[in-house]
Amino acid sequence: MIRYRASWILPIDTPPIRDGWVAVDRGRVVALGSPASADRSSGSVNDVRLGDVLVMPGLVNAHTHLELSHLHDEVPPAPGFVTWIRAVMAARRQRPDPRSPEIMDGVARGVAESIACGTAVVGDISNTLVTFEPLKRSPLAAVVFYELIRFNAPEPAALVDAARAEIAALSQTARVRASLAAHAPYSVAPLLFRAIRQASDRDAFTPCSVHLSESAEEVEFIQTGGGPWRDLLDEVGAWDPAWVPPRVSPVQFLDEAGFLGSNLLAVHGVQMTLDDLGRLKARGTTLVTCPRSNGHTGAGAPPLQDFYDAGVRVAIGTDSLASAPDLNVFAELATMRALAPNVPVESLLRSATIEGARALGFDADYGTIEPGKRARLLAVDLPSGVDDVEEYLVSGITPSQLRWLDEKSEV
Ligand SMILES: [Zn+2]
Repeated sequence: MIRYRASWILPIDTPPIRDGWVAVDRGRVVALGSPASADRSSGSVNDVRLGDVLVMPGLVNAHTHLELSHLHDEVPPAPGFVTWIRAVMAARRQRPDPRSPEIMDGVARGVAESIACGTAVVGDISNTLVTFEPLKRSPLAAVVFYELIRFNAPEPAALVDAARAEIAALSQTARVRASLAAHAPYSVAPLLFRAIRQASDRDAFTPCSVHLSESAEEVEFIQTGGGPWRDLLDEVGAWDPAWVPPRVSPVQFLDEAGFLGSNLLAVHGVQMTLDDLGRLKARGTTLVTCPRSNGHTGAGAPPLQDFYDAGVRVAIGTDSLASAPDLNVFAELATMRALAPNVPVESLLRSATIEGARALGFDADYGTIEPGKRARLLAVDLPSGVDDVEEYLVSGITPSQLRWLDEKSEV
């Protein structure tokens, strides 16, 4: 057994412990405490003094698209969301083979970058499942969301059955799993939403995801059936003449369709009203915010203060490298701090850890430092003079200030 001693331990679900310790055995946390609390661990203990660092659980990036990593710096910031998505569609059309070396190298770089940035768990959106095996080979825990996107879907049940068969053919483990997701209200047929929901209710392991209320153009389309989204659907031949605009907000639309639930990660929420947020809270849906991506795509700044004031569960995602400069959740935290300086810093840190872990179904193993959980622990360098360690963690931590605690190398 190893007992790490550090100037700070941040368990997340309890206050930071100054001069604390955490005992680890065979990859699991055994105990933790302050200098005054006795460690009753029996057997031989290897004390490791880490010095001026803070030890915390690995972070959770609850929304990313590793298969888009090759688009890093390829899609410029856009004045409006539909302009941005047109550029992404054009870039993806240039690479029709989803397993091309360029795409797979991007996935490998995205995985490596995630780990270097202190991420332990990812919620990874994929339209092709090419990220599943690379994630299995990595130390990351993951849910790979097999995302369906089809606005004109004459046979939604068959589409979902085929996707479920592809998921069933994967060799899932306790650490890397897969489940279904829907892309967004403007790109998924109402009956396809229903079929995905029915499948999610049937399967044992069922986190689900949807991009929701991301842009003003989405709100316009769901309310009126017109605007830039309608134009785009027409252009790509995906328009369904039988579709009737719901004439409500995107959140109300999916709520009344029975799609919101406690297993759902609703991503973005930039355009959500207080009524929308009340619906998410009532359904126990987790809202995943990706503020740097929202700035890049022209969606605008998310109303973070409203998210937290409404009492909604909030998790954090970087989104893909097509709209974020890196996959660093600590950088996302710094942006959130700047956008919403009155949200308690403990709430932000919970969003970056346990809230994401819970939404992805990994809270038994990740998200806090607690006896029994996996010891996937980060050591963050603390410069001298830092007293408010939680504030420091949301100030913009870079990979050079981090390292993973590895039991094997410290025995
Ligand atoms: Zn996304």
